[in-house]
Amino acid sequence: MSEKIIGIDLGTTNSEVALYQDGELKVFEDQSSKLFPSYVGIDDQGELVVGTQARNQYAAYPERSIKSIKRKMGSDEQVIMADKEYHPQEISAIILRRLKEIAEENLGQEISKAVITVPAYFSDRQRQATREAGEIAGLEVMKIINEPTAAALVYESGHKGEKQLLVYDLGGGTFDVSVVRMEEAVVEVISSHGNNHLGGDDFDAVILELLLEHLRDEYEIEEPDQRVISRLRHAAEKAKIELSSQPFTTIEEEYLLEKDGNPVHLRMELSRDRYEELITPFIDETIEAVHTALRDCGLVATAIDEVLLVGGSTRTPLVRSRLEQDLHQVAHGEIDPDLCVAGGAAIQGAILAGDSVEAVLVDITPYTFGTDTLGMEDGIPIPYFYVPIIKKNSPIPIKKSEVFYTIRPNQESVQVTVFQGEEPDARENIELGQFSVNGLSEGPANNEIIIGFSLDVNGILHAEATEKRTGLSKSITIDNAITRFEDDELDSARERIKDLFGDRTEQVGDAEEADDNADQGRKADKDNDLIDKAKNLLEAVTDDDDREDIVALLEEISDARKNGDKEQFQTAVEELTELIFYIEN
Ligand code: ADP
Ligand code: MG
Repeated sequence: MSEKIIGIDLGTTNSEVALYQDGELKVFEDQSSKLFPSYVGIDDQGELVVGTQARNQYAAYPERSIKSIKRKMGSDEQVIMADKEYHPQEISAIILRRLKEIAEENLGQEISKAVITVPAYFSDRQRQATREAGEIAGLEVMKIINEPTAAALVYESGHKGEKQLLVYDLGGGTFDVSVVRMEEAVVEVISSHGNNHLGGDDFDAVILELLLEHLRDEYEIEEPDQRVISRLRHAAEKAKIELSSQPFTTIEEEYLLEKDGNPVHLRMELSRDRYEELITPFIDETIEAVHTALRDCGLVATAIDEVLLVGGSTRTPLVRSRLEQDLHQVAHGEIDPDLCVAGGAAIQGAILAGDSVEAVLVDITPYTFGTDTLGMEDGIPIPYFYVPIIKKNSPIPIKKSEVFYTIRPNQESVQVTVFQGEEPDARENIELGQFSVNGLSEGPANNEIIIGFSLDVNGILHAEATEKRTGLSKSITIDNAITRFEDDELDSARERIKDLFGDRTEQVGDAEEADDNADQGRKADKDNDLIDKAKNLLEAVTDDDDREDIVALLEEISDARKNGDKEQFQTAVEELTELIFYIEN
Protein backbone atom coordinates (compact mmCIF):
# COMPACT_ATOMS: atom_id res chain seq x y z
CA MET A 1 0.00 0.00 0.00
CA SER A 2 1.17 3.48 -0.82
CA GLU A 3 1.95 5.99 1.85
CA LYS A 4 -0.89 8.06 3.21
CA ILE A 5 -1.03 11.72 2.22
CA ILE A 6 -3.03 13.93 4.53
CA GLY A 7 -4.85 17.12 3.51
CA ILE A 8 -4.46 20.31 5.52
CA ASP A 9 -6.51 23.49 5.43
CA LEU A 10 -4.20 26.02 7.05
CA GLY A 11 -6.78 28.70 7.83
CA THR A 12 -6.54 32.22 9.20
CA THR A 13 -8.91 31.43 12.08
CA ASN A 14 -9.17 27.65 12.08
CA SER A 15 -7.23 24.81 10.52
CA GLU A 16 -8.28 21.25 9.81
CA VAL A 17 -6.58 17.99 8.89
CA ALA A 18 -8.21 15.19 6.90
CA LEU A 19 -7.55 11.90 5.17
CA TYR A 20 -9.41 10.16 2.37
CA GLN A 21 -9.15 6.43 2.71
CA ASP A 22 -11.12 3.44 1.44
CA GLY A 23 -13.80 5.63 -0.06
CA GLU A 24 -14.25 7.57 3.12
CA LEU A 25 -13.35 11.09 4.09
CA LYS A 26 -12.21 11.56 7.68
CA VAL A 27 -11.56 14.87 9.36
CA PHE A 28 -9.52 14.23 12.49
CA GLU A 29 -10.56 15.48 15.89
CA ASP A 30 -8.51 17.08 18.59
CA GLN A 31 -10.19 17.43 21.99
CA SER A 32 -13.42 16.32 20.27
CA SER A 33 -13.36 19.17 17.79
CA LYS A 34 -12.57 19.00 14.10
CA LEU A 35 -11.76 22.70 14.07
CA PHE A 36 -8.31 23.54 15.28
CA PRO A 37 -7.89 27.24 16.17
CA SER A 38 -4.91 28.69 14.27
CA TYR A 39 -3.35 30.14 17.44
CA VAL A 40 0.09 29.68 18.96
CA GLY A 41 1.28 30.88 22.36
CA ILE A 42 3.64 30.50 25.29
CA ASP A 43 1.87 29.73 28.58
CA ASP A 44 2.80 31.03 32.03
CA GLN A 45 5.15 28.08 32.54
CA GLY A 46 7.02 29.06 29.40
CA GLU A 47 5.62 26.08 27.51
CA LEU A 48 4.44 26.17 23.93
CA VAL A 49 0.66 25.96 23.49
CA VAL A 50 -1.19 25.52 20.21
CA GLY A 51 -4.85 25.52 19.19
CA THR A 52 -7.66 25.96 21.70
CA GLN A 53 -5.35 26.59 24.65
CA ALA A 54 -3.51 29.32 22.77
CA ARG A 55 -6.78 30.82 21.66
CA ASN A 56 -8.04 30.87 25.24
CA GLN A 57 -5.04 32.75 26.51
CA TYR A 58 -4.96 35.20 23.59
CA ALA A 59 -7.15 37.89 25.13
CA ALA A 60 -5.37 37.86 28.46
CA TYR A 61 -1.81 37.53 27.14
CA PRO A 62 -1.59 38.97 23.63
CA GLU A 63 2.14 39.58 24.12
CA ARG A 64 2.80 35.87 24.23
CA SER A 65 0.09 34.71 21.81
CA ILE A 66 -0.16 34.82 18.03
CA LYS A 67 -3.22 34.66 15.84
CA SER A 68 -3.97 35.11 12.13
CA ILE A 69 -0.37 34.42 11.16
CA LYS A 70 -1.61 33.47 7.70
CA ARG A 71 -2.01 37.15 6.91
CA LYS A 72 1.76 37.60 7.27
CA MET A 73 2.87 34.57 5.29
CA GLY A 74 5.30 35.52 2.56
CA SER A 75 6.34 38.77 4.20
CA ASP A 76 9.64 39.50 5.93
CA GLU A 77 7.84 40.81 8.96
CA GLN A 78 8.63 38.93 12.15
CA VAL A 79 6.26 38.47 15.03
CA ILE A 80 7.11 38.65 18.70
CA MET A 81 5.94 35.97 21.06
CA ALA A 82 7.15 36.13 24.67
CA ASP A 83 10.02 38.45 23.76
CA LYS A 84 11.33 36.25 20.97
CA GLU A 85 11.09 36.92 17.26
CA TYR A 86 9.66 34.39 14.81
CA HIS A 87 9.23 34.25 11.06
CA PRO A 88 5.62 33.68 9.94
CA GLN A 89 6.74 30.30 8.49
CA GLU A 90 7.86 29.19 11.93
CA ILE A 91 4.55 30.00 13.57
CA SER A 92 2.65 28.26 10.77
CA ALA A 93 5.02 25.32 11.13
CA ILE A 94 4.03 24.97 14.79
CA ILE A 95 0.39 24.70 13.76
CA LEU A 96 1.20 22.24 10.97
CA ARG A 97 3.28 20.11 13.28
CA ARG A 98 0.43 19.82 15.72
CA LEU A 99 -1.98 18.93 12.89
CA LYS A 100 0.43 16.24 11.75
CA GLU A 101 0.47 14.86 15.30
CA ILE A 102 -3.33 14.88 15.48
CA ALA A 103 -3.47 12.79 12.31
CA GLU A 104 -0.83 10.43 13.70
CA GLU A 105 -2.61 10.03 17.04
CA ASN A 106 -5.86 9.23 15.23
CA LEU A 107 -4.29 6.82 12.77
CA GLY A 108 -1.75 5.24 15.07
CA GLN A 109 1.00 5.59 12.51
CA GLU A 110 3.53 8.09 11.33
CA ILE A 111 2.63 10.56 8.60
CA SER A 112 5.15 12.46 6.54
CA LYS A 113 3.32 13.72 3.46
CA ALA A 114 0.69 16.37 3.02
CA VAL A 115 -1.24 18.51 0.60
CA ILE A 116 -1.77 22.03 1.94
CA THR A 117 -4.28 24.59 0.73
CA VAL A 118 -3.79 28.32 0.21
CA PRO A 119 -6.13 31.10 -0.99
CA ALA A 120 -6.36 31.46 -4.75
CA TYR A 121 -4.92 34.97 -4.55
CA PHE A 122 -1.72 33.87 -2.74
CA SER A 123 1.40 34.97 -4.62
CA ASP A 124 4.28 32.65 -5.41
CA ARG A 125 6.08 34.03 -2.42
CA GLN A 126 3.20 33.27 -0.09
CA ARG A 127 2.92 29.79 -1.52
CA GLN A 128 6.62 29.25 -1.09
CA ALA A 129 6.40 30.39 2.54
CA THR A 130 3.58 27.87 3.11
CA ARG A 131 5.67 25.11 1.58
CA GLU A 132 8.59 26.05 3.85
CA ALA A 133 6.30 25.98 6.88
CA GLY A 134 5.34 22.42 5.94
CA GLU A 135 8.97 21.41 5.62
CA ILE A 136 9.91 22.97 8.96
CA ALA A 137 7.07 20.93 10.46
CA GLY A 138 8.60 17.75 9.10
CA LEU A 139 6.15 17.28 6.28
CA GLU A 140 6.91 16.64 2.66
CA VAL A 141 4.54 19.00 0.89
CA MET A 142 3.35 17.00 -2.10
CA LYS A 143 1.32 19.85 -3.50
CA ILE A 144 0.00 23.28 -2.62
CA ILE A 145 -3.54 23.68 -3.95
CA ASN A 146 -6.02 26.53 -4.00
CA GLU A 147 -8.78 26.49 -1.40
CA PRO A 148 -11.60 26.87 -3.95
CA THR A 149 -10.09 24.04 -5.96
CA ALA A 150 -10.16 21.87 -2.88
CA ALA A 151 -13.82 22.73 -2.26
CA ALA A 152 -14.65 21.85 -5.85
CA LEU A 153 -12.83 18.52 -5.50
CA VAL A 154 -14.94 17.50 -2.51
CA TYR A 155 -18.23 18.35 -4.13
CA GLU A 156 -17.39 17.06 -7.53
CA SER A 157 -15.24 14.03 -6.79
CA GLY A 158 -16.46 11.35 -9.09
CA HIS A 159 -17.95 13.88 -11.47
CA LYS A 160 -17.02 13.71 -15.13
CA GLY A 161 -17.36 16.38 -17.77
CA GLU A 162 -17.14 20.11 -17.76
CA LYS A 163 -18.52 22.38 -15.08
CA GLN A 164 -18.18 25.93 -13.83
CA LEU A 165 -18.49 26.51 -10.14
CA LEU A 166 -18.64 29.58 -7.99
CA VAL A 167 -16.99 29.09 -4.62
CA TYR A 168 -18.08 31.62 -1.99
CA ASP A 169 -15.78 31.39 1.03
CA LEU A 170 -16.58 33.50 4.09
CA GLY A 171 -14.39 32.57 7.05
CA GLY A 172 -13.48 34.28 10.30
CA GLY A 173 -11.50 37.19 8.94
CA THR A 174 -11.33 36.75 5.20
CA PHE A 175 -13.68 36.58 2.27
CA ASP A 176 -12.91 35.10 -1.14
CA VAL A 177 -15.04 34.30 -4.10
CA SER A 178 -13.64 32.27 -6.97
CA VAL A 179 -14.88 30.92 -10.23
CA VAL A 180 -13.54 27.44 -10.83
CA ARG A 181 -13.63 25.52 -14.08
CA MET A 182 -13.51 21.73 -14.00
CA GLU A 183 -12.68 19.83 -17.10
CA GLU A 184 -12.32 16.10 -16.61
CA ALA A 185 -9.53 15.87 -14.07
CA VAL A 186 -8.31 19.42 -14.43
CA VAL A 187 -9.52 22.01 -11.98
CA GLU A 188 -8.60 25.60 -12.54
CA VAL A 189 -9.43 28.88 -10.80
CA ILE A 190 -10.36 31.30 -13.57
CA SER A 191 -11.03 34.34 -11.43
CA SER A 192 -10.92 35.31 -7.81
CA HIS A 193 -11.85 38.33 -5.77
CA GLY A 194 -12.38 39.18 -2.14
CA ASN A 195 -11.54 41.15 0.95
CA ASN A 196 -8.75 40.07 3.21
CA HIS A 197 -10.37 41.80 6.16
CA LEU A 198 -13.99 40.75 6.06
CA GLY A 199 -15.57 37.82 7.83
CA GLY A 200 -17.27 36.41 10.88
CA ASP A 201 -15.12 38.59 13.16
CA ASP A 202 -16.96 41.61 11.77
CA PHE A 203 -20.28 39.98 12.60
CA ASP A 204 -19.06 39.39 16.16
CA ALA A 205 -17.98 43.01 16.33
CA VAL A 206 -21.43 44.40 15.54
CA ILE A 207 -22.92 42.32 18.35
CA LEU A 208 -20.11 43.37 20.67
CA GLU A 209 -20.95 46.99 19.85
CA LEU A 210 -24.58 46.36 20.85
CA LEU A 211 -23.46 44.84 24.13
CA LEU A 212 -21.23 47.80 24.92
CA GLU A 213 -24.09 50.13 24.09
CA HIS A 214 -26.31 48.13 26.43
CA LEU A 215 -23.76 48.48 29.23
CA ARG A 216 -23.60 52.23 28.66
CA ASP A 217 -27.37 52.70 28.55
CA GLU A 218 -28.34 50.35 31.36
CA TYR A 219 -25.42 50.66 33.76
CA GLU A 220 -23.53 53.77 32.67
CA ILE A 221 -20.43 51.72 32.15
CA GLU A 222 -18.31 53.55 29.63
CA GLU A 223 -15.13 51.65 29.02
CA PRO A 224 -14.98 48.15 30.40
CA ASP A 225 -11.54 46.59 30.70
CA GLN A 226 -9.96 44.17 28.25
CA ARG A 227 -10.99 41.11 30.21
CA VAL A 228 -14.65 42.14 30.09
CA ILE A 229 -14.44 42.95 26.41
CA SER A 230 -12.94 39.59 25.67
CA ARG A 231 -15.76 37.85 27.57
CA LEU A 232 -18.27 39.90 25.63
CA ARG A 233 -16.63 39.11 22.32
CA HIS A 234 -16.87 35.44 23.12
CA ALA A 235 -20.53 35.83 24.07
CA ALA A 236 -21.14 37.75 20.85
CA GLU A 237 -19.76 34.92 18.73
CA LYS A 238 -21.86 32.40 20.61
CA ALA A 239 -24.99 34.53 20.06
CA LYS A 240 -24.16 34.90 16.38
CA ILE A 241 -23.87 31.14 15.96
CA GLU A 242 -27.18 30.62 17.76
CA LEU A 243 -28.90 33.09 15.47
CA SER A 244 -27.92 30.91 12.53
CA SER A 245 -30.47 28.36 13.67
CA GLN A 246 -32.96 30.26 15.81
CA PRO A 247 -34.86 33.58 15.56
CA PHE A 248 -33.83 34.97 18.96
CA THR A 249 -31.04 34.53 21.42
CA THR A 250 -30.40 35.79 24.92
CA ILE A 251 -26.91 36.85 25.83
CA GLU A 252 -26.30 36.32 29.51
CA GLU A 253 -23.08 37.00 31.38
CA GLU A 254 -23.37 36.80 35.12
CA TYR A 255 -20.95 38.73 37.32
CA LEU A 256 -19.54 40.46 34.29
CA LEU A 257 -18.08 43.28 36.37
CA GLU A 258 -18.70 45.42 39.42
CA LYS A 259 -20.33 48.78 39.50
CA ASP A 260 -20.35 50.78 42.77
CA GLY A 261 -19.60 47.61 44.68
CA ASN A 262 -22.49 45.67 43.09
CA PRO A 263 -22.12 42.87 40.60
CA VAL A 264 -23.45 43.55 37.11
CA HIS A 265 -25.22 40.67 35.40
CA LEU A 266 -25.61 41.34 31.74
CA ARG A 267 -28.72 40.12 29.97
CA MET A 268 -29.66 41.19 26.49
CA GLU A 269 -31.98 39.67 23.97
CA LEU A 270 -31.15 39.86 20.29
CA SER A 271 -33.38 38.96 17.38
CA ARG A 272 -32.14 37.59 14.10
CA ASP A 273 -33.96 40.42 12.33
CA ARG A 274 -31.99 43.07 14.16
CA TYR A 275 -28.74 41.21 13.70
CA GLU A 276 -29.35 40.78 9.99
CA GLU A 277 -29.96 44.47 9.58
CA LEU A 278 -26.57 45.17 11.12
CA ILE A 279 -24.59 42.76 8.98
CA THR A 280 -26.31 43.65 5.71
CA PRO A 281 -23.59 46.10 4.59
CA PHE A 282 -20.97 43.34 4.88
CA ILE A 283 -23.07 40.95 2.88
CA ASP A 284 -23.73 43.60 0.25
CA GLU A 285 -19.99 43.92 -0.17
CA THR A 286 -19.56 40.18 -0.72
CA ILE A 287 -22.32 40.13 -3.32
CA GLU A 288 -20.60 42.93 -5.20
CA ALA A 289 -17.39 40.92 -5.11
CA VAL A 290 -19.23 37.95 -6.59
CA HIS A 291 -20.14 40.10 -9.56
CA THR A 292 -16.63 41.42 -9.89
CA ALA A 293 -15.29 37.86 -10.00
CA LEU A 294 -17.85 36.92 -12.65
CA ARG A 295 -17.07 40.00 -14.70
CA ASP A 296 -13.33 39.34 -14.47
CA CYS A 297 -13.68 36.00 -16.19
CA GLY A 298 -16.33 37.21 -18.59
CA LEU A 299 -19.10 34.98 -17.29
CA VAL A 300 -22.73 35.76 -16.60
CA ALA A 301 -24.35 34.34 -13.49
CA THR A 302 -26.37 31.81 -15.49
CA ALA A 303 -23.15 30.22 -16.76
CA ILE A 304 -22.45 28.96 -13.24
CA ASP A 305 -23.44 25.32 -12.81
CA GLU A 306 -23.08 25.14 -9.04
CA VAL A 307 -22.59 27.54 -6.18
CA LEU A 308 -20.58 26.15 -3.25
CA LEU A 309 -20.59 27.55 0.27
CA VAL A 310 -17.30 27.38 2.12
CA GLY A 311 -16.22 28.84 5.48
CA GLY A 312 -17.99 28.81 8.83
CA SER A 313 -19.72 32.13 8.27
CA THR A 314 -21.72 30.80 5.33
CA ARG A 315 -23.92 29.08 7.93
CA THR A 316 -25.46 32.52 8.48
CA PRO A 317 -28.90 32.18 6.85
CA LEU A 318 -28.81 35.69 5.41
CA VAL A 319 -25.54 34.99 3.62
CA ARG A 320 -27.05 32.03 1.91
CA SER A 321 -30.40 33.59 1.08
CA ARG A 322 -28.88 36.76 -0.34
CA LEU A 323 -26.50 34.78 -2.52
CA GLU A 324 -29.25 32.48 -3.75
CA GLN A 325 -31.54 35.40 -4.52
CA ASP A 326 -28.81 37.16 -6.38
CA LEU A 327 -27.65 34.20 -8.44
CA HIS A 328 -31.08 32.63 -8.84
CA GLN A 329 -29.91 29.24 -7.77
CA VAL A 330 -29.67 27.04 -4.75
CA ALA A 331 -26.26 27.08 -3.08
CA HIS A 332 -24.61 23.90 -1.80
CA GLY A 333 -23.69 23.68 1.84
CA GLU A 334 -24.22 19.96 2.35
CA ILE A 335 -20.59 19.30 3.04
CA ASP A 336 -19.61 20.95 6.30
CA PRO A 337 -18.40 24.39 5.16
CA ASP A 338 -15.62 24.49 7.78
CA LEU A 339 -14.27 21.14 6.73
CA CYS A 340 -14.66 20.94 3.00
CA VAL A 341 -11.36 22.60 2.12
CA ALA A 342 -9.40 20.12 4.23
CA GLY A 343 -11.50 17.35 2.68
CA GLY A 344 -10.56 18.51 -0.80
CA ALA A 345 -6.90 18.59 0.14
CA ALA A 346 -7.24 15.02 1.40
CA ILE A 347 -8.88 13.96 -1.86
CA GLN A 348 -6.02 15.56 -3.77
CA GLY A 349 -3.68 13.62 -1.49
CA ALA A 350 -5.44 10.36 -2.27
CA ILE A 351 -5.25 11.07 -6.00
CA LEU A 352 -1.52 11.74 -5.70
CA ALA A 353 -1.11 8.53 -3.72
CA GLY A 354 -2.76 6.70 -6.60
CA ASP A 355 -5.96 5.77 -4.77
CA SER A 356 -9.27 5.76 -6.57
CA VAL A 357 -11.65 8.42 -5.41
CA GLU A 358 -15.42 8.17 -5.37
CA ALA A 359 -18.12 10.72 -4.68
CA VAL A 360 -18.14 11.87 -1.09
CA LEU A 361 -21.32 10.89 0.71
CA VAL A 362 -22.93 12.93 3.43
CA ASP A 363 -26.14 12.53 5.39
CA ILE A 364 -28.61 15.05 4.13
CA THR A 365 -32.37 15.31 4.17
CA PRO A 366 -33.87 14.74 0.73
CA TYR A 367 -37.00 16.67 1.71
CA THR A 368 -38.00 20.03 3.07
CA PHE A 369 -39.99 20.10 6.31
CA GLY A 370 -42.09 23.04 7.34
CA THR A 371 -45.34 24.35 8.66
CA ASP A 372 -48.06 26.67 7.41
CA THR A 373 -49.15 30.14 8.40
CA LEU A 374 -51.30 32.96 7.17
CA GLY A 375 -49.08 34.77 4.73
CA MET A 376 -49.51 38.31 3.49
CA GLU A 377 -48.58 39.59 0.12
CA ASP A 378 -49.31 43.21 -0.73
CA GLY A 379 -52.10 43.27 1.80
CA ILE A 380 -53.70 40.14 0.38
CA PRO A 381 -53.89 37.36 2.99
CA ILE A 382 -52.73 33.96 1.81
CA PRO A 383 -53.80 31.05 3.97
CA TYR A 384 -51.86 27.76 3.99
CA PHE A 385 -48.71 29.69 3.23
CA TYR A 386 -45.91 27.16 3.51
CA VAL A 387 -42.91 28.10 5.62
CA PRO A 388 -39.96 25.69 5.27
CA ILE A 389 -38.06 25.20 8.50
CA ILE A 390 -35.58 22.47 7.59
CA LYS A 391 -34.67 22.76 3.95
CA LYS A 392 -34.00 19.96 1.52
CA ASN A 393 -30.31 18.95 1.26
CA SER A 394 -29.48 20.23 4.73
CA PRO A 395 -26.93 18.04 6.49
CA ILE A 396 -28.43 16.03 9.33
CA PRO A 397 -28.68 15.98 12.31
CA ILE A 398 -30.08 19.49 12.28
CA LYS A 399 -32.11 21.75 14.53
CA LYS A 400 -33.82 24.92 13.33
CA SER A 401 -36.49 27.28 14.54
CA GLU A 402 -38.46 30.26 13.28
CA VAL A 403 -40.81 32.76 14.88
CA PHE A 404 -44.54 33.00 14.13
CA TYR A 405 -47.19 35.37 15.47
CA THR A 406 -50.76 35.02 16.71
CA ILE A 407 -53.27 37.01 14.68
CA ARG A 408 -55.92 37.89 17.27
CA PRO A 409 -55.71 39.58 20.67
CA ASN A 410 -56.07 37.04 23.49
CA GLN A 411 -55.71 34.17 21.08
CA GLU A 412 -55.80 31.09 23.26
CA SER A 413 -54.30 28.49 21.03
CA VAL A 414 -52.29 27.86 17.91
CA GLN A 415 -52.39 24.80 15.75
CA VAL A 416 -49.19 23.54 14.20
CA THR A 417 -49.21 21.28 11.18
CA VAL A 418 -46.01 19.60 10.09
CA PHE A 419 -45.55 19.14 6.36
CA GLN A 420 -43.02 17.54 4.11
CA GLY A 421 -42.61 19.00 0.63
CA GLU A 422 -41.56 21.94 -1.45
CA GLU A 423 -44.84 23.51 -2.60
CA PRO A 424 -45.62 27.11 -1.59
CA ASP A 425 -49.21 26.09 -0.91
CA ALA A 426 -48.90 23.96 2.21
CA ARG A 427 -51.88 21.80 1.25
CA GLU A 428 -49.98 20.50 -1.72
CA ASN A 429 -47.36 19.04 0.58
CA ILE A 430 -47.62 15.88 2.62
CA GLU A 431 -49.00 16.35 6.09
CA LEU A 432 -46.97 14.44 8.67
CA GLY A 433 -48.75 15.47 11.86
CA GLN A 434 -50.52 18.16 13.76
CA PHE A 435 -50.76 19.44 17.31
CA SER A 436 -51.97 22.50 19.15
CA VAL A 437 -50.68 24.60 21.97
CA ASN A 438 -53.59 25.65 24.18
CA GLY A 439 -53.78 28.06 27.08
CA LEU A 440 -51.67 30.86 25.61
CA SER A 441 -51.40 33.89 27.86
CA GLU A 442 -53.68 36.90 27.37
CA GLY A 443 -52.42 39.89 25.49
CA PRO A 444 -52.44 41.70 22.18
CA ALA A 445 -52.05 39.98 18.83
CA ASN A 446 -48.55 39.17 17.53
CA ASN A 447 -47.76 36.98 20.50
CA GLU A 448 -44.50 35.31 19.51
CA ILE A 449 -44.60 31.56 19.00
CA ILE A 450 -41.32 29.81 18.23
CA ILE A 451 -41.62 26.69 16.15
CA GLY A 452 -38.58 24.47 16.16
CA PHE A 453 -37.88 21.29 14.19
CA SER A 454 -35.08 18.85 14.72
CA LEU A 455 -34.24 15.94 12.46
CA ASP A 456 -31.75 13.20 13.23
CA VAL A 457 -29.89 10.76 11.01
CA ASN A 458 -32.52 8.09 11.65
CA GLY A 459 -35.19 10.29 10.16
CA ILE A 460 -36.87 11.10 13.46
CA LEU A 461 -38.45 14.53 13.26
CA HIS A 462 -39.30 16.39 16.42
CA ALA A 463 -41.50 19.48 16.20
CA GLU A 464 -42.05 21.84 19.07
CA ALA A 465 -43.98 25.09 19.48
CA THR A 466 -43.25 27.43 22.38
CA GLU A 467 -44.95 30.62 23.50
CA LYS A 468 -41.87 32.80 23.87
CA ARG A 469 -43.30 34.95 26.64
CA THR A 470 -44.18 32.12 29.00
CA GLY A 471 -42.24 29.11 27.80
CA LEU A 472 -45.47 27.15 27.43
CA SER A 473 -44.77 24.47 24.87
CA LYS A 474 -46.06 21.40 23.14
CA SER A 475 -44.38 18.98 20.76
CA ILE A 476 -44.71 15.87 18.64
CA THR A 477 -42.27 13.32 17.34
CA ILE A 478 -42.61 11.79 13.92
CA ASP A 479 -40.66 8.61 13.28
CA ASN A 480 -39.32 7.80 9.85
CA ALA A 481 -39.94 11.28 8.53
CA ILE A 482 -37.42 10.66 5.80
CA THR A 483 -38.05 7.09 4.79
CA ARG A 484 -41.74 6.73 5.38
CA PHE A 485 -42.74 7.68 1.86
CA GLU A 486 -40.44 5.36 0.10
CA ASP A 487 -42.70 2.31 0.41
CA ASP A 488 -46.40 1.67 -0.05
CA GLU A 489 -47.29 4.59 2.17
CA LEU A 490 -46.44 6.69 -0.82
CA ASP A 491 -49.52 5.34 -2.56
CA SER A 492 -51.84 6.15 0.29
CA ALA A 493 -50.34 9.61 0.55
CA ARG A 494 -50.97 10.11 -3.14
CA GLU A 495 -54.55 9.00 -2.74
CA ARG A 496 -55.01 11.45 0.07
CA ILE A 497 -53.62 14.29 -1.94
CA LYS A 498 -55.70 13.27 -4.91
CA ASP A 499 -58.86 13.41 -2.79
CA LEU A 500 -57.89 16.80 -1.54
CA PHE A 501 -57.28 18.38 -4.89
CA GLY A 502 -59.73 16.70 -7.21
CA ASP A 503 -58.21 16.23 -10.64
CA ARG A 504 -55.23 18.37 -9.86
CA THR A 505 -52.90 15.51 -9.07
CA GLU A 506 -54.71 12.93 -11.17
CA GLN A 507 -51.64 12.18 -13.24
CA VAL A 508 -49.40 11.65 -10.22
CA GLY A 509 -48.69 7.98 -9.87
CA ASP A 510 -48.51 7.05 -13.50
CA ALA A 511 -45.37 6.23 -15.37
CA GLU A 512 -44.63 9.82 -16.27
CA GLU A 513 -44.90 10.93 -12.71
CA ALA A 514 -41.54 12.58 -12.56
CA ASP A 515 -42.10 14.54 -15.74
CA ASP A 516 -45.54 15.57 -14.65
CA ASN A 517 -44.25 16.79 -11.38
CA ALA A 518 -41.61 18.76 -13.15
CA ASP A 519 -44.22 20.18 -15.52
CA GLN A 520 -46.40 21.13 -12.61
CA GLY A 521 -43.45 22.76 -10.96
CA ARG A 522 -42.69 24.72 -14.10
CA LYS A 523 -46.34 25.67 -14.42
CA ALA A 524 -46.41 26.81 -10.80
CA ASP A 525 -43.24 28.84 -11.45
CA LYS A 526 -44.85 30.40 -14.48
CA ASP A 527 -48.00 31.24 -12.55
CA ASN A 528 -45.97 32.78 -9.79
CA ASP A 529 -44.00 34.83 -12.32
CA LEU A 530 -47.27 36.03 -13.76
CA ILE A 531 -48.56 37.02 -10.34
CA ASP A 532 -45.31 38.87 -9.61
CA LYS A 533 -45.55 40.64 -12.91
CA ALA A 534 -49.13 41.66 -12.16
CA LYS A 535 -48.08 43.03 -8.78
CA ASN A 536 -45.31 45.06 -10.38
CA LEU A 537 -47.71 46.35 -12.98
CA LEU A 538 -50.02 47.52 -10.22
CA GLU A 539 -47.51 50.18 -9.35
CA ALA A 540 -46.97 51.19 -12.94
CA VAL A 541 -50.49 51.37 -14.39
CA THR A 542 -52.07 54.78 -14.61
CA ASP A 543 -55.57 53.68 -15.50
CA ASP A 544 -57.81 53.07 -12.47
CA ASP A 545 -59.95 50.51 -14.25
CA ASP A 546 -56.91 48.46 -15.18
CA ARG A 547 -55.71 48.60 -11.63
CA GLU A 548 -59.08 47.45 -10.28
CA ASP A 549 -59.18 44.60 -12.78
CA ILE A 550 -55.72 43.43 -11.74
CA VAL A 551 -56.60 43.56 -8.05
CA ALA A 552 -59.85 41.66 -8.65
CA LEU A 553 -58.05 38.92 -10.58
CA LEU A 554 -55.29 38.64 -7.99
CA GLU A 555 -57.91 38.22 -5.30
CA GLU A 556 -59.65 35.61 -7.36
CA ILE A 557 -56.39 33.71 -7.78
CA SER A 558 -55.75 33.89 -4.08
CA ASP A 559 -59.30 32.66 -3.33
CA ALA A 560 -58.96 29.86 -5.81
CA ARG A 561 -55.69 28.79 -4.21
CA LYS A 562 -57.33 28.95 -0.82
CA ASN A 563 -60.21 26.74 -1.89
CA GLY A 564 -58.13 24.44 -4.04
CA ASP A 565 -60.41 25.31 -6.94
CA LYS A 566 -58.29 24.45 -9.92
CA GLU A 567 -60.75 25.60 -12.54
CA GLN A 568 -61.30 28.99 -10.98
CA PHE A 569 -57.53 29.32 -10.59
CA GLN A 570 -56.89 28.43 -14.23
CA THR A 571 -59.55 30.81 -15.53
CA ALA A 572 -58.27 33.68 -13.41
CA VAL A 573 -54.68 33.03 -14.50
CA GLU A 574 -55.72 33.07 -18.15
CA GLU A 575 -57.71 36.27 -17.72
CA LEU A 576 -54.77 37.86 -15.95
CA THR A 577 -52.42 36.81 -18.76
CA GLU A 578 -54.71 38.45 -21.30
CA LEU A 579 -55.12 41.57 -19.23
CA ILE A 580 -51.38 41.98 -18.82
CA PHE A 581 -50.87 41.45 -22.53
CA TYR A 582 -53.54 44.08 -23.22
CA ILE A 583 -52.03 46.60 -20.80
CA GLU A 584 -48.50 46.06 -21.98
CA ASN A 585 -49.41 46.52 -25.59
P1 ADP B 1 -11.07 30.52 8.28
O1 ADP B 1 -11.18 29.69 7.05
O2 ADP B 1 -10.96 31.99 7.99
O3 ADP B 1 -10.00 30.05 9.18
P2 ADP B 1 -13.57 29.32 9.18
O4 ADP B 1 -14.02 28.88 7.85
O5 ADP B 1 -13.19 28.29 10.16
O6 ADP B 1 -12.43 30.42 9.08
O7 ADP B 1 -14.72 30.25 9.79
C1 ADP B 1 -14.70 30.72 11.08
C2 ADP B 1 -15.85 31.68 11.26
O8 ADP B 1 -17.08 31.00 11.10
C3 ADP B 1 -15.87 32.29 12.66
O9 ADP B 1 -16.11 33.69 12.56
C4 ADP B 1 -17.06 31.60 13.30
O10 ADP B 1 -17.66 32.39 14.30
C5 ADP B 1 -17.96 31.42 12.12
N1 ADP B 1 -19.01 30.41 12.33
C6 ADP B 1 -18.86 29.12 12.70
N2 ADP B 1 -20.05 28.51 12.82
C7 ADP B 1 -21.00 29.45 12.50
C8 ADP B 1 -22.43 29.44 12.46
N3 ADP B 1 -23.13 28.34 12.76
N4 ADP B 1 -23.06 30.59 12.10
C9 ADP B 1 -22.36 31.70 11.79
N5 ADP B 1 -21.02 31.77 11.83
C10 ADP B 1 -20.34 30.66 12.18
MG1 MG C 1 -11.11 28.53 5.52
